[in-house]
Amino acid sequence: MASVPVYCLCRLPYDVTRFMIECDGCQDWFHGSCVGVEEEAAAEIDLYHCPQCAVLRGPSVMKRRRAPPKPAPGDADAGRPVRTGSAQFV
Ligand SMILES: [Zn+2]
Ligand SMILES: [Zn+2]
Repeated sequence: MASVPVYCLCRLPYDVTRFMIECDGCQDWFHGSCVGVEEEAAAEIDLYHCPQCAVLRGPSVMKRRRAPPKPAPGDADAGRPVRTGSAQFV
């Protein structure tokens, strides 16, 4: 029998019926149920780090769905502070 590639902490062959997530650190695949990541939650993950890689690289990086609006870099607040409602406006 040919050897079958195995994945995850449980070292099982790929199973299409089970949700899996790829670790961005070691490029191995992990069952969501084995690493505590649900399929819905995985949609929020930008870079996944498995438990082993999380030790070395830090926790998984989440996507930011609602990024705070960034102020335009540059002009207004560069250098001198401008106060709204000051006398120079009249
Ligand atoms: Zn597994
Ligand atoms: Zn990993």
